[in-house]
Amino acid sequence: MMPYLTSEFGNSSSIHTFGQKAKMAVDRARHQVAALLNATRPNEIVFTSGGTESNNLAIRGLFQANTKHGNHIILSAIEHPAVESVCEDLQKRGAELTVLPVYENGIVRIEDVRNAIRDDTLLITVMAANNEIGTLQPIAAIGQLVREIRLTGKKIWFHTDAVQAVGKVPINVEEIGCDLLSFSAHKINGPKGVGGLYIRRGVRLHPQNIGGRQERGTRAGTENVAGIVGLGFAAELAGSKLTELATRVRSIRDRIENGILEAIPDAITNGDRRERVPNIANISFRLVEGEALLIALDMQGIAVSTGSACSSGSLEPSPVIRALGYGDDLARGAIRFSLGRQNTADEIDKLLAVLPDTVAKLRSLQPQN
Ligand SMILES: *Cc1c(COP(=O)(O)O)cnc(C)c1O
Repeated sequence: MMPYLTSEFGNSSSIHTFGQKAKMAVDRARHQVAALLNATRPNEIVFTSGGTESNNLAIRGLFQANTKHGNHIILSAIEHPAVESVCEDLQKRGAELTVLPVYENGIVRIEDVRNAIRDDTLLITVMAANNEIGTLQPIAAIGQLVREIRLTGKKIWFHTDAVQAVGKVPINVEEIGCDLLSFSAHKINGPKGVGGLYIRRGVRLHPQNIGGRQERGTRAGTENVAGIVGLGFAAELAGSKLTELATRVRSIRDRIENGILEAIPDAITNGDRRERVPNIANISFRLVEGEALLIALDMQGIAVSTGSACSSGSLEPSPVIRALGYGDDLARGAIRFSLGRQNTADEIDKLLAVLPDTVAKLRSLQPQN
């Protein structure tokens, strides 16, 4: 990224040589991202400021461009706030919503999707992998269903928030059959503040940023060249490390999870343990406040999270864990352990060495005991 912040500081929309060098860098990144997603044409990739903006552009943009085809949106009960809030905002502007349950395993059922579809259904938006519990949703089956429905002549579109799945599991937009797919650079070790949206050729979106012809008019504003270059390289790296993530990171994750379940009573895993990304474990500790455990671990140099970073500070129990049908006590005691390629076996040993005592101490402070 450094050259594009210093010597190659051209504006990729400028005609002069400096600009064209920057444009070539942006184009290379578009190819790198298209390759990771298996998009047939690089110009199906539009760069944005991140996953949140991509979700806004996809859902709001599709709704506004296609109002004549319907106003019904289907979403899952565990969508990221950047999907859920956009749908709720559209509800105030004439959209009708159907929220699909996820059951105890944290996975949407394809029969529920099929049953929810109506004549006026415009959009199905179901995430590829959940950000708190990591469960993989049946997006290829939804894509297949949408293709079948289109054969009847009905207009319907499928968006998936794949921010947590890209770079963690293989993603192939042709196999999935989605029309729109959101991704973000910082979830694949890239820079913050940049991401993008895959837009299948022929899908029309009403732009949310207007005032320029960048990104073929879909997203006006001078491109974040350095950020986009970083995203492109992160995408290439993520693609080449997919197998490593699927084996080494999965084994570390499983070691954390099994270690915790063996050493700590009244700890339960949240979400399906097979159908999920390799880098996330989510565990509820009964009679423990998740926030208190988070702070106690932080003081020992271990970073975990409760809920989504986008809803932290709310102190409400995680809506995702509640959607699994558990009570508030388990939702409040839920902790997400997220791993990356950089995590080492030593770090896992350290976590497993301190966690049982930390949990026991917090439990002894609970008034119920
Ligand atoms: C992080 C995340 C987002 C938001 O992406 P940003 O780039 O941080 O705006 C959206 N959806 C999911 C599932 C996420 O995990």
